[in-house]
Amino acid sequence: MNSDYAATELAEPNLRALLGTAGLDVEYVRGEGNTLFRLGADGQEIPVLDFAGGYGSLLFGHSHPEIIARARQLLDEGTPVHAQFSSHPYANRLAAELNRIVHRETGTTEPYYATFANSGAEAIEAAVKHAELDRVLRLGELLERIAAGAERAREAVADGSAVVPDSLFTRLRTEPPAAGQDRTEAVLAAVAAHNAEPGSRPPLFLALEGGFHGKLMGSVQLTHNPGYREPFDALGVRTRFVPEGRADLLKEIAAEEGATLLEPVVEDGEIRLAEHRAPVFCAFLLEPIQGEGGIRPLTQEGARAVDEFRAATGCPVVVDEVQSGMGRTGALLASAALGLRGDYYVLAKSLGGGIAKASVMLVHESCYRPQFELVHSSTFAKDSFSCHIALKVLELLEADGGSAYRRAAERGEALKAMLDRVRLAFPTVAAEVRGRGLMLGFEFRDQSDSPDQVLGEAARTGMIGYVLAGHLLHAHRIRTFPTASAPHTLRFEPSLLLTDEEIGRLETALTDVCALVRDRASDRLVTS
Ligand code: PMP
Repeated sequence: MNSDYAATELAEPNLRALLGTAGLDVEYVRGEGNTLFRLGADGQEIPVLDFAGGYGSLLFGHSHPEIIARARQLLDEGTPVHAQFSSHPYANRLAAELNRIVHRETGTTEPYYATFANSGAEAIEAAVKHAELDRVLRLGELLERIAAGAERAREAVADGSAVVPDSLFTRLRTEPPAAGQDRTEAVLAAVAAHNAEPGSRPPLFLALEGGFHGKLMGSVQLTHNPGYREPFDALGVRTRFVPEGRADLLKEIAAEEGATLLEPVVEDGEIRLAEHRAPVFCAFLLEPIQGEGGIRPLTQEGARAVDEFRAATGCPVVVDEVQSGMGRTGALLASAALGLRGDYYVLAKSLGGGIAKASVMLVHESCYRPQFELVHSSTFAKDSFSCHIALKVLELLEADGGSAYRRAAERGEALKAMLDRVRLAFPTVAAEVRGRGLMLGFEFRDQSDSPDQVLGEAARTGMIGYVLAGHLLHAHRIRTFPTASAPHTLRFEPSLLLTDEEIGRLETALTDVCALVRDRASDRLVTS
């Protein structure tokens, strides 16, 4: 390699430099369980206790021995990783197994069809694309029915079996044509004019304030954080963001954005108009527990409001379980505990067992469009390696009557109890502990007004979480990060291997951090 090139930093050097300001630009050379290892100056490994957990992709920890053994076996056997456009029985088995668990947890019995992808954002976009295909097809079917209705109306008036009553013109808010002019064509033209706008309107999406659904071109428009989304507004779909639990606002949106399509029908010897709901809403996206938004669980009320909106508008619900799913909260689906039923579910992260890039979107049979299979694909998705690894992950989750789920829930309780203890010990520093299972957040009170210049400035610039994470890393060998869109909240998403001793280490470390913030003692920060 040319040494000039080797010396130049070209792989996101600015991000590395930014991490460097908080001492977070360390290299890890190995991972095992809840531990990542970095090298000290003497070349010896330094263990770091990992609470960032790949931001949720490591429910079974780094390099889980059974997952690694399965991967080795697959590679040794020469598993055909790239064999697209062939039969994939392992993908079918994985879809069946996911269905079995989803049915058990949600009490449903209808199938969910699976489309595989490589990352969370990609599977979200697959769900959104599918929802849009379904919307466009539904709209097309409705417009065809309306066109056929118009034809039947023409024929009925022409053969004298129906008339065009004056009330139709009143309803369409248009003047009847002058005597001698064609009343049928005048009505049909007014119907077409009414239908033109809702029939050609771009789709509308709904998503929750604080929500995060990815950073790709489409998904970033569904992610609330304006810093990520706004520069790319012109590239994407229109989304209305709503605070959770605001049934009143959702009703307003349904009324404001909803529209009808009119279908001419022949009834009792006259032309009448049947009203249909225009499919203007494409999808409602939400996380059962917001991850990047600061580990914020959706409330029962919030789930009910979304259900009501779906019932009122026909808008399908995409439940984004990318971070909350795969056992992290004690169930495959965190949404199941809320009684929230997804028309779509999206799973990723731990589906790949910490080594494969795998995600899946599940579509309920009632809205499934088989032609989607011909218009959506990826070179890398649904491959044998990732499917077999995902099957292994499900096997680990389901083994021993689901002891992994129980362990995630129990370890989560133990971790949360400790976080609550620290919060209670530092009421002026800690604002709230949130989350469920092994998806927990510890929110600090805003330090923007802190007389400590370093802490105040870090809070004002949204860096405080990173500064505190840097201290945890260097003073305590503990790795975590703030959530992406709520920088005052530190996340804790360890694997279910979490031990009491590891919880104890975090308690000592977090107690030190809280004391440092309380004492406004940035001079105690350790950043290297
Ligand atoms: N949805 C949620 C809820 C997520 O937390 C994330 C990632 N943090 C994504 C989607 C995007 O997943 P990926 O980074 O794999 O594209």
